[in-house]
Amino acid sequence: LVAREVKEETTTIRVGDVVIGGPEVVVIAGPCAVESEVQLLTTAKAVKEAGAHLLRGGAFKPRTSPYSFQGLGLEGLKLLAQAREVTGLPVVTEVLDTRDVELVARYADVLQVGARNMQNFRLLQEVGQSGKPVLLKRGLAATVEEWLLAAEYIAATGNQQIILCERGIRTYENSLRNTLDISAVPLVKELSHLPIIVDPSHATGNQRMVLPLARAAVAAGADGLMIEVHPDPARALSDGPQSLTPAQFSRLMGELRRVALAV
Ligand code: PEP
Ligand code: MN
Repeated sequence: LVAREVKEETTTIRVGDVVIGGPEVVVIAGPCAVESEVQLLTTAKAVKEAGAHLLRGGAFKPRTSPYSFQGLGLEGLKLLAQAREVTGLPVVTEVLDTRDVELVARYADVLQVGARNMQNFRLLQEVGQSGKPVLLKRGLAATVEEWLLAAEYIAATGNQQIILCERGIRTYENSLRNTLDISAVPLVKELSHLPIIVDPSHATGNQRMVLPLARAAVAAGADGLMIEVHPDPARALSDGPQSLTPAQFSRLMGELRRVALAV
């Protein structure tokens, strides 16, 4: 169902007034995790001001250590809904477990399936059946074929509103958090009609790498970007080292306009 052979034109996904898969590069921005009302609203207003199209923020966080901050859960979802109310930005947030799909779908505009859950097939079916658009991240060590087959699980429920997100894969190269597979962008475009976005924040884990790789993603033909932004990265409860300040994010948005005009 997701193969390019079955559909010539790229699938477009409408979320509020935003169209993903259309001519415009769509930017999803916000903190890694929802931490507090002040932190989220400050970030949401700043990214809106800078030109972001959607707000991200994790309420349920898939942390490597069980002792790390796990997210605010329902309280985080409520804050996201409040931030949408204030800024008008639709909300993207991760759902970790089949038991939470209904709850998260009540608050979010787009359900995110994270890298660690890319092959959680029951979760894929549940988010598919929610009827909401789904942002499907590539698994930490997934091939493009495995990723597209995961998307197929969602599509098989009758829900074709799927946004693929390349977020770096684990390779022998360990100087950055992951290795961004930029070639996945044109490859996925050849193999599938689904839109594909790039997350240079998780791909690199390094704030200084985000802008150059965001440029590369747009130049390679990505339909959008996901960027982590935090008002005070040094104090972030998760992923501070890869988070941009609002000022850095605003500069990135300006740079992207230049790249988009050049390609
Ligand atoms: C995230 O986007 O919040 C996240 C946890 O990313 P990933 O699943 O790509 O690691
Ligand atoms: Mn993160």
